[in-house]
Amino acid sequence: MAFPATRADALARLEAFLPRAGRAYAARRNFDEGPGRRSAVSELSPAIRRRLLTEEEVARAAVAAHGLEAAEKFVQEVCWRSYWRGWLEARPAVWHRYLADVARLEDQLGRNSGLAAGFAEAVSARTGIDCFDAWVQELQETGYLHNHARMSFASIWIFTLRLPWQLGADFFFRHLLDACPASNTLGWRWVAGLQTQGKTYLASADTIRRTSGGRFSVEAPLATRAEPLPGEAPVHPAGLAPLPAADSDAPSGLFLHTEDLCAESITWPAPIRAVAGPTAIDGDPSDGKRAYANASLADGLARAAGHFGTAADRLPVDNLPVAIVDWARANGFTQLLTPHAPVGPVADRIALMQQACAAAGIRLVPVRRSWDSRAWPHATRGFFQFKTHIPDLVA
Ligand SMILES: Cc1cc2nc3c(=O)[nH]c(=O)nc-3n(C[C@H](O)[C@H](O)[C@H](O)COP(=O)(O)OP(=O)(O)OC[C@H]3O[C@@H](n4cnc5c(N)ncnc54)[C@H](O)[C@@H]3O)c2cc1C
Repeated sequence: MAFPATRADALARLEAFLPRAGRAYAARRNFDEGPGRRSAVSELSPAIRRRLLTEEEVARAAVAAHGLEAAEKFVQEVCWRSYWRGWLEARPAVWHRYLADVARLEDQLGRNSGLAAGFAEAVSARTGIDCFDAWVQELQETGYLHNHARMSFASIWIFTLRLPWQLGADFFFRHLLDACPASNTLGWRWVAGLQTQGKTYLASADTIRRTSGGRFSVEAPLATRAEPLPGEAPVHPAGLAPLPAADSDAPSGLFLHTEDLCAESITWPAPIRAVAGPTAIDGDPSDGKRAYANASLADGLARAAGHFGTAADRLPVDNLPVAIVDWARANGFTQLLTPHAPVGPVADRIALMQQACAAAGIRLVPVRRSWDSRAWPHATRGFFQFKTHIPDLVA
């Protein structure tokens, strides 16, 4: 199954899905007919994740097609993503603790044979739980799972197989085309009862049978209780870090990355004279995810180059901090702009590039979209409170 890897293809998919984004979505979105047969959901998440399409335009298109009331459920789902990102952005320690946990647990896999055996059975689709084993295969083959499958998968992983949630989240992250530090990590935490204190998600065989259109019989027993995982040290929100202001007179270079591939719809604070991006996306272990990232990056760079009337340069990905300084100097830039990358691996790389630039007297200034600036400050408590701001956001 092909997920749209260019903006043009993603727009075409959005257009085709829009008639189903109203009341039909609210009624059918939990049904998962399986790969190649899904009609109730958009399957746009890989494109939205890299901002081939923005949350803002997808939400507004649904409202324009159906009105806010009928499109409410779809718009809310789109906004869950903005909510999760805003929530994590104010609490980067939750992401860094998760990364440290994954490293510790990977180390344990080499020493704890019971854990290693359970983990190997799960990720090689040998648990004997028909739906779970099918989802493992689908995830590895296509890089996508329906939301309901993700919830049930995570629940079975944690409460039936009794495996650490962090290893499950990492397994998702390695394969999902839409892998997102916020939606994935916080989605797993939500199922585990860590995100909404005391509230877990318990997968039910009946619900899986019903929502999968009878594809699964789910005869193997699933956990019947889902006790929240032991509490952890609370992380107090640090708030959104202020971004440095750009010099609006300085002709600037634009560095594009896969957190936001729609440079033409960002309000840039200074004139853009040249565009660059990495040669390739190298970090992903899954071939499919790497190929998707590279195809979407190529599309984003080509559009940005066309929009700003320049070529798109490619900078060696294995040494971006040095390459970006060389590129800025070769073009005579003292200021570079880049879309703000929320908490995650790209943000970590940008931080290193910023340090190298600063040492060379060049400013690398992240620019946040107005949608994020307006949405994220409301992600302080639960989604219930956040969603009251949705009408203003999409107005
Ligand atoms: C354990 C777990 C892990 C998840 N990991 C990710 C992830 O890494 N990346 C990711 O984008 N989503 C993640 N989700 C959320 C959700 O499952 C996917 O966004 C959705 O399944 C994508 O399919 P779709 O495009 O057909 O969604 P649709 O139902 O068509 O929804 C439209 C868009 O809204 C957004 N969206 C929908 N539901 C959610 C949600 N619950 N949370 C956040 N955004 C949502 C997506 O951008 C999606 O493309 C996760 C959910 C769970 C329970």
